[in-house]
Amino acid sequence: MDKEKIKHNRKGKVWLVGAGPGDYRLLTLKARDVIEAADVVVYDALVGSSILSLIPEEAEKIYVGKRSGLHTMKQSEINKLLLEKAQQGLKVVRLKGGDPFVFGRGGEELELLKKNGIPYEVVPGVTSAFAVPAYAGIPVTHRDHCSSVHVVTGHRRKDHTYDIDFAALAEAGGTIVFLMGISSLPVLMNGLMGGGIDPETPAAVIEKGTTAAQRIISSTVEGLAEAAKKAKVVMPAIIVVGEVAALSEDFSWLEDLPLAGVRAVVTRPRELSSGLAKMLREKGAEAIELPTIRIEAAEENPVIDEAIKGLRKSGYEWVVFTSPSGVRVFMDRLLEKYDLRMLAYCSIAAIGKGTERELLKYGIRPDMIPTVYDGRTLGAQLAVLLRKGDRVLIPRARLGNPELVEELSRVRGVHIDDVTTYDTKYVTQEWFDADTEFDDPHTFALFTSASTVRGFVNAYKGMNFRKVRAVCIGKQTAAEAKRCGMGVCVSDEATLESLCVKLEEVSKAVK
Ligand code: SAH
Repeated sequence: MDKEKIKHNRKGKVWLVGAGPGDYRLLTLKARDVIEAADVVVYDALVGSSILSLIPEEAEKIYVGKRSGLHTMKQSEINKLLLEKAQQGLKVVRLKGGDPFVFGRGGEELELLKKNGIPYEVVPGVTSAFAVPAYAGIPVTHRDHCSSVHVVTGHRRKDHTYDIDFAALAEAGGTIVFLMGISSLPVLMNGLMGGGIDPETPAAVIEKGTTAAQRIISSTVEGLAEAAKKAKVVMPAIIVVGEVAALSEDFSWLEDLPLAGVRAVVTRPRELSSGLAKMLREKGAEAIELPTIRIEAAEENPVIDEAIKGLRKSGYEWVVFTSPSGVRVFMDRLLEKYDLRMLAYCSIAAIGKGTERELLKYGIRPDMIPTVYDGRTLGAQLAVLLRKGDRVLIPRARLGNPELVEELSRVRGVHIDDVTTYDTKYVTQEWFDADTEFDDPHTFALFTSASTVRGFVNAYKGMNFRKVRAVCIGKQTAAEAKRCGMGVCVSDEATLESLCVKLEEVSKAVK
């Protein structure tokens, strides 16, 4: 982290935060607020990628979980790390899966802070113990079936013994939820049967609950170990034992959503990605916001300043927008000094629905949108409306599509000002390991412009792009993805809705 970021005159603080079991929308509002304000985030393996995406770009991200065989950072080292960062005056978020106090060693992490007078807050999270069964359609309590629920760790002590009173659990007759129990599954089930539980009692394993990879393996106490082995269950997974475990068959619901089981990587710039991500999540997909480009407005831009000034004197008959970012950058500049009345004298063209939507946010309804949302069609259809002597302003990205200007130039006596208002910069999200993530056949990359494809390729240079299943808006975007070797399909229309429909279609093929 930059030396200048370390503010010695400010007292540091630690937030011990639960990230929930995986689903982005199970994060609490408070957790989101503190993550977005963090200087440092210390996180481990159970925190979902979609949540990591919320960490500010400039914040330091420290992973302390297991990675390809290497062992986790020791607990004492984590404790020390939190203390050191807080002593540097930083806002430290310690982000943990589920709830930090439910088998999360959260208590231990506070001890050293308390001893050293570091202020802290605890932000509870949605625990996997209850949320994962719920996502599998299992109510952990039910008046007809049980009157208690017991959350138990299946973790062994240092001497390899278990600290579980199986007879007492069997006697209580409530629902039992085991966390960290997968590697000990046979021992746990035998223990329960030894303690007197009926071997025919329903039991289930739920793997990667609340994520796109969620799987439910239903059986009985006697049969569960074998069933889990056959299904090749991997971590993280929980075990639910009790009559309620059988209700999953009737009550499971996640699988019924149209995009259940799909992980969609959204590569649009940050300020545009949340709308698409929300749409995907509402359809049941796990959406990961992974911006691969950033829009950078030119700071000094005398050409556009002159053009804006000229609008008032009816300097242009048409202003043409070719992307939502183009609208935003232009309007921000205009509104710095003037107001909407500057546009009263000209007509407005927009390349498509997204651009129209952005214009509407500023209270502007475009006068024309082409029937097909691409540069050539926009140029050809606008050309028909132009008259000799008309002046056209195109405020847009550097190196914009040449076809638009080509088409407009066919009209004689028309003056075109094609003005660069922003640059597209590539960004890399180092917390996302694209090479491994795309091994999973349920993961798709969504590209809404050729520049997002180039940004992705730039960020993950070393990887095999043939693994990437790309769902694209527009021919140009698709051509760029193809050129890089990706497996490509294109939405029927250049809209986000159509992109979601296409994703649904192609994901069905791999289900
Ligand atoms: N503090 C966490 C639990 C940490 S212990 C919480 O409140 O959820 C780690 C165990 O949690 C894992 O071994 C697994 O049993 C369970 N777990 C966490 N996330 C899970 C998920 N998405 N699906 C299934 N089990 C999960």
